[in-house]
Amino acid sequence: MNLNSILRAYDAIGLPKFPVTVNLEPTNACQLRCKTCYRQGRPVGFMSPEMFHLAASQIYEVPTISIIKLFLAGEPLLHPGLSEMVDHFSEKKTRLGKRYWTQISTNGSIPFTDYIDRVDSINVSLGGLGQRHEENRAGSSWEAVHQNIMDCAETRRCRTKISVNMVQTDEPDSEIEQFMTYWQDKVDSVFVARYHSPKLAVSGACQKRGQCLYLHHSIAILWDGRVTTCCSDLQGANAYGDIHAGHLKGMKQPTGALCETCDVWKL
Ligand code: SF4
Ligand code: SF4
Repeated sequence: MNLNSILRAYDAIGLPKFPVTVNLEPTNACQLRCKTCYRQGRPVGFMSPEMFHLAASQIYEVPTISIIKLFLAGEPLLHPGLSEMVDHFSEKKTRLGKRYWTQISTNGSIPFTDYIDRVDSINVSLGGLGQRHEENRAGSSWEAVHQNIMDCAETRRCRTKISVNMVQTDEPDSEIEQFMTYWQDKVDSVFVARYHSPKLAVSGACQKRGQCLYLHHSIAILWDGRVTTCCSDLQGANAYGDIHAGHLKGMKQPTGALCETCDVWKL
């Protein structure tokens, strides 16, 4: 079952709609130079403590939010305050009295065992196996990333689930299968995301468009406080609000410039 199927099922049983998920971007800085990265085009910065507390206070006032993802563009572990952000959300409960479900996603270059049992999910985004990973993710050491993942592998039965993903560009299906097979017994889940970018994601543009469920279920806050539609918007092209000027509560997501070419709605 893919993400949109899950969200449709979520709608079907009448659970609260917009927004369920928030991506909060600690930083859009990154130490790598991946072939597929399209985060360029906006200033690089780090969310300030003031901005974080403003964003968090607005998140707590939206009763539908239950999932907090501490990443968007960039490498969140580069933010010196990430640990405090994680702890901040750990101490809070949703309106239903449940703990927020939290996730970080990393390129895996910085050890992340400190976050085990403090978030619900850690995803490591890879460029393939071995040399392919290093070709696709310039600046990354396969050996170091692999070791960082394996250091967490024995903790699989704790609160934190470990997933790995690969962004597929022109790799043959046989390579994708090898990737899946290699990781499936080592981590909790493995998936391959198809590469989409403002330049390349035009395959859906000439078809009758479907409705993108991200517009109904997710919201994203960039490090500078601007609000945008989803975690695909690495460049802030869809930004439509700002937590300084408005409030997350009651914001309705408009489609944006990126939606014109993005084909994530097809998933
Ligand atoms: S790890 Fe992510 S943010 Fe960093 S360069 Fe690669 S794609 Fe861009
Ligand atoms: S940019 Fe893509 S994923 Fe995001 S809301 Fe628009 S269509 Fe959906």
